[in-house]
Amino acid sequence: MRLLRKERTVTVSDFTFGLGTPIVIAGPCSVESREQIIEIAKAVKQAGAQMLRGGVFKPRTNPYDFQGLGLKGLDYLLEAKALTGLPIVTELMDERYLDIFVEQVDLIQIGSRNMYNYALLRAVGETKKPILLKRGMSATIKEWIMAAEHILKAGNDQIILCERGIRTFETYTRNTLDLAAVPIMKRETGLPVIVDPSHGTGRRDLIEIMSKTAIASGADGLLIEAHINPDEAVSDKEQTIDIGLLEKIIRACNTY
Ligand code: PEP
Ligand code: MN
Repeated sequence: MRLLRKERTVTVSDFTFGLGTPIVIAGPCSVESREQIIEIAKAVKQAGAQMLRGGVFKPRTNPYDFQGLGLKGLDYLLEAKALTGLPIVTELMDERYLDIFVEQVDLIQIGSRNMYNYALLRAVGETKKPILLKRGMSATIKEWIMAAEHILKAGNDQIILCERGIRTFETYTRNTLDLAAVPIMKRETGLPVIVDPSHGTGRRDLIEIMSKTAIASGADGLLIEAHINPDEAVSDKEQTIDIGLLEKIIRACNTY
């Protein structure tokens, strides 16, 4: 075990996670079109977000649901980055696209469903790229630490952890957001930890309060699904907030 208790910061473009100032990554669940992501990128930047998220390869439970725009979506994200200067965060599901992601993506997300994909963890571990490692939806803290350890052992310590809720018996929320994991993971791994209240609750009405609570729990940042027209979002609209609320949350969290 090499992770234990060595404090690390992780720098993505101009922003360093783990220095005490929360960093907000915001954007739609999915990149839907060129116009959509460009308009959202401008809006989230205006709202004060530091980075732009948007899935182009989507891990959907139902194979008949929208699967993402793939590499075309990545081109749109890059265009949005060029126009706004926002670094981009998107999920890698398939090692086939690793080289393209290393070249073009600022922060590579490994999603909840792939936290146990040790071949993929090793592959991103062999790069020098910052990795956003989400907690597996049924992963214990120990298993999540070990997943980070897989990346580290392969040679990459540029890891940001993301608590995104776990499956429990509770049905009022999509997942149970485990905020106790934030101080535990920070202490056990020394890595920056951010919180995703969107997948963590599945509920638009809980994003503001859980964002503030996440920051109060010591989170180094937030990953928030936001859209210019949340009701029209093609994926995860129930948990997607509008830009006005995003701005309010960012203001509250920076001055918390
Ligand atoms: C996402 O962030 O788009 C996503 C699919 O999240 P998770 O892997 O946490 O379900
Ligand atoms: Mn989503």
